[in-house]
Amino acid sequence: MPMPPYPVLCYEPNCGRPAVYKIAAEWSDGYTRELKPYGLTCADCLWKWYQRAVRSHQLLRLAPGEYVGELAIFRFERGKRDVELVRDRDLERQLAARSAQEALS
Ligand SMILES: [Zn+2]
Repeated sequence: MPMPPYPVLCYEPNCGRPAVYKIAAEWSDGYTRELKPYGLTCADCLWKWYQRAVRSHQLLRLAPGEYVGELAIFRFERGKRDVELVRDRDLERQLAARSAQEALS
């Protein structure tokens, strides 16, 4: 499949920078398995979208038989399929630590 000639942009309105992170969680209905996307962002907008994703993820109501994994951050690369994306666990830890710190203040 040929790649589109334009970059995939950050989801933040008026940001305009290329997306470098994908916020997503593993999802399955028992038959298919895919990533449930919460956003594609540049490095600057990641924190804002991560916080939003955490909230949506917590509020998620699953149908019987549905499964959703923990929220994850992947290094987004245009033209790669979800299964090929590399998960950035260090970054996830940093974001989780920042969330915990802000919850205390
Ligand atoms: Zn952005």
